Amino acid sequence: MDHFLYRDGVMHAEDVSLTDMVAQVGTPFYCYSTATLTRHFQLFDDALAGMPHLVCYAMKAASNQAILKTLGDLGAGMDVVSGGELARATAAGIPGDRIVFSGVGKTHEEIHAALSLGIRQFNVESEPELRAISEIASSLDARAAVAIRVNPDVDAKTHAKIATGKSENKFGIPIARARDVYAEAAAMPGLDVIGIDVHIGSQLTQLDPFEAAYKKVAELTEVLRADGHDIRRLDLGGGLGIPYSQGNEAPPLPKDYGALIKRTVGHLGCEIEIEPGRLIVGNAGILVSRVIYVKSGQDRDFLILDAAMNDLIRPSMYDAYHDIVPVIQPAVGAERSAYDVVGPVCESGDTFAKARQLTALHEGDLVAFRSAGAYGAVMSSEYNTRPLIPEVLVHGSEFAVVRARPSFDDIINRDTIPYWL
Ligand SMILES: *Cc1c(COP(=O)(O)O)cnc(C)c1O
Repeated sequence: MDHFLYRDGVMHAEDVSLTDMVAQVGTPFYCYSTATLTRHFQLFDDALAGMPHLVCYAMKAASNQAILKTLGDLGAGMDVVSGGELARATAAGIPGDRIVFSGVGKTHEEIHAALSLGIRQFNVESEPELRAISEIASSLDARAAVAIRVNPDVDAKTHAKIATGKSENKFGIPIARARDVYAEAAAMPGLDVIGIDVHIGSQLTQLDPFEAAYKKVAELTEVLRADGHDIRRLDLGGGLGIPYSQGNEAPPLPKDYGALIKRTVGHLGCEIEIEPGRLIVGNAGILVSRVIYVKSGQDRDFLILDAAMNDLIRPSMYDAYHDIVPVIQPAVGAERSAYDVVGPVCESGDTFAKARQLTALHEGDLVAFRSAGAYGAVMSSEYNTRPLIPEVLVHGSEFAVVRARPSFDDIINRDTIPYWL
């Protein structure tokens, strides 16, 4: 469920008409709904009720500070994967004790910064990383709380580029080697080994892979406890999928996911962390764009938009499907025809949809890409010297531009010409 609905024939974001927003912001832009963000965070928080837990939003999905602050004010923690995200979360007011640092390649500078902030936990992915964290923590007279990410060798049954839990993926340590690695970690002076971490992939549309992975984590918890480790926290990762097309897809609900967690690891008495990204923000965001031209090709019509692959790369990168809907509600029963929906970038890969059945659209019409909140703005670039597009946050009948559109000068002036030219 989201808060982007037609009202009086015009799509609204909560109580704000998109045409009003366009008049002020111009196109293209991303628009997020506070009510949807709140609702989705609450669904996860409620799903884990009765167990000590922290929902750590995986901020790589959408990292605007206004989104982080909205979620932080509800009590969310953050899962960060870089020094930049750590700085951003901190700037948005997220306290260190609610920040979990994940990722396979944390640099020494990033580890140092995280320890200085007193973060909640490092999710560690290799033995060299354990050694680095221990050494840096010791040099600061600190002990770093660590969970070790295990790779359970489970098929997440998702797109290959976003599956992370098979042994051929670069993530985590093989679960079969976990006992040895935990023993090594326990002997390192700068570490407090508190838990186990697992994350098997993104956009999972079934619960079975989670179940298989969490059962392995539960077994490992008992084994490690028997070895003398005080395992008291389990980080179960993110990855729950969302419906990208209305009607025919129904990924599992957070409450069923929560029940699965209780069933598989609830008896262990551990504090539970989860790291959802996409499900919190995916359907809380849309991309609004304008039709520049409708071009008749030999055997098809092209809808050429002012948004492009640099603004939303998911269709070209992951063959992702996004519903594309007109901002002005079409008449009931209006005829549809097939369009290839494309952007202006000089690559054939700059295609959002092929042979998409849409009601008639004309130059100047507005369209919205639904479910564009996750892995949209954060993956955008300035390819073709196209400015990063604005982000807008709606709150009831109010909205604010939370990232402004840069000018060409802002972009061009970042280059410097060396003295010999
Ligand atoms: C990407 C990622 C997530 C979030 O995945 P979603 O599919 O957006 O929920 C959580 N944890 C880790 C370690 C990740 O890399």
